[in-house]
Amino acid sequence: MKKLNVNKEACIGCGACVSIDREHFGFDENGYSEVISNDNIEGDATRNAIASCPTSAISYVEGDTNSDEHDCEHCDHHCEN
Ligand code: SF4
Repeated sequence: MKKLNVNKEACIGCGACVSIDREHFGFDENGYSEVISNDNIEGDATRNAIASCPTSAISYVEGDTNSDEHDCEHCDHHCEN
């Protein structure tokens, strides 16, 4: 399943994605964007938010590559979640 991912190292906290698509993006405690929902993520608002990001920080990822539900025993990534 596809999910949204925000690259926090690329995000500059401009707020464009949050203002365009409040259903899916919000601010974290540091003022950077975070994904708040992965429901219906392929609508126009979401695509516009992704296209409007000045640093291309938002992307779609396959659910099992950056998911808080995945099985970490087979994964070397250091997850934030
Ligand atoms: S549009 Fe891009 S840079 Fe701006 S807050 Fe959203 S993810 Fe961060």
